Amino acid sequence: MSDKDTSHPSTTPGAAAPHVLPPLPYAENALEPVITAKTVSFHYGKHHQGYVDNLNKLVAGTEYADMALEKIMAETAGRLEGAAIFNNAAQIWNHTFYWKSLNPKGGGEPPDALRQMMVAAFGSVDACKKELVDAAVAQFGSGWSWLVLRGDALKVVKTANAETPLTKGMKPLLTIDVWEHAYYLDYQNRRADYVNAVLDRLIDWEFALQNAG
Ligand code: MN
Repeated sequence: MSDKDTSHPSTTPGAAAPHVLPPLPYAENALEPVITAKTVSFHYGKHHQGYVDNLNKLVAGTEYADMALEKIMAETAGRLEGAAIFNNAAQIWNHTFYWKSLNPKGGGEPPDALRQMMVAAFGSVDACKKELVDAAVAQFGSGWSWLVLRGDALKVVKTANAETPLTKGMKPLLTIDVWEHAYYLDYQNRRADYVNAVLDRLIDWEFALQNAG
């Protein structure tokens, strides 16, 4: 922990330590019945909070103590000696982005500008959604399914564990957490059912379009 004034810790991911858990953008029960309040309570209150607590302990007294979250991620990505710091920093970022990718009023049809991008890249909205499900199911073990821009190209990619397209030269548009803690209480082993339900009823296409801008 640095000795600078920490009386006004920011809740933004761009701020340096002490890193704080950003507010959940909705009530814990707002995603029901697709994702239950019990799942959100553990996922946000225990897992996401845990990454924040771990990172603050790990960076205390190090060269990373005064760095913003994205800077820490960029500095430690792919470096074996920085793996623990990268994993916790990236998991903070990924989870904040995941909560923003969901919306109680989400799902349905994408806005027209995004729909056109999806049709151009995948042939149809449904084909794009299927790619996101297939990436989620194909991810062996823990990870994430993402819609990203690589250059001007709309792509679906999957990442393992804490890995994130942000440090791989891509622009994330939306993500779905496919760690078991994201769905096991509600869907047990049925990962595809969870991802399909999220895409049909919760995904925030407007958020994705904003990120593409
Ligand atoms: Mn998670």
